[in-house]
Amino acid sequence: MPTTVRALQGDITQLPVQAIVNAAKASLLGGGGVDGAIHRAAGPQLLEECRRLGGCTTGEAKLTQGYRLPAKYVIHTVGPVWHGGNCGEPALLAACYRHSLQLAAAQGIRSLAFPSISTGVYGYPFELAAQVAISTVRAALEEFTGLDEVIFCCFSASDLQVYQRLLGEQPGARPAAPGQAPGD
Ligand code: ADP
Repeated sequence: MPTTVRALQGDITQLPVQAIVNAAKASLLGGGGVDGAIHRAAGPQLLEECRRLGGCTTGEAKLTQGYRLPAKYVIHTVGPVWHGGNCGEPALLAACYRHSLQLAAAQGIRSLAFPSISTGVYGYPFELAAQVAISTVRAALEEFTGLDEVIFCCFSASDLQVYQRLLGEQPGARPAAPGQAPGD
């Protein structure tokens, strides 16, 4: 069965998926933004497990339990800091999505949600980051099968609009029934 790829607006810490991705700091010891929200929601055991992992380099990904989160697992990946786009940022951001999906597939995870990695304090322009996210996930899913659903979790309504446009979704639109042409 092909993997469903969709975007929604919400708080990633609340999503009832098997795994959520954390836009973590290299130390894996927590920070602000989505990282802080995930650690607060998961509770102190997450930090304890993270301490044992010895950090994570940019573009790599490491797996932990989700503890008090609805998600069973957290995949921690470290996005690149935006320095203008000529310092390898797109390839490093793509590596975050690819390695996270690889880890999820290896763990037999069936549903996974990503935040918009690097687009907060790391300063990656949102739409450029969304293009990398979508194209990388689509390509990686050709290779890493077994996932039912991948969600791009957008924090704001305007972020969601960007994803919906890039994914070719119309807000509120329903997929056409089989045999029905779009707009019929
Ligand atoms: P980075 O350091 O990788 O830039 P940030 O956490 O600062 O990470 O921001 C990454 C993205 O996560 C931003 O688009 C931000 O709006 C979003 N974000 C922050 N909190 C949450 C949350 N609870 N759920 C989903 N997305 C979030």
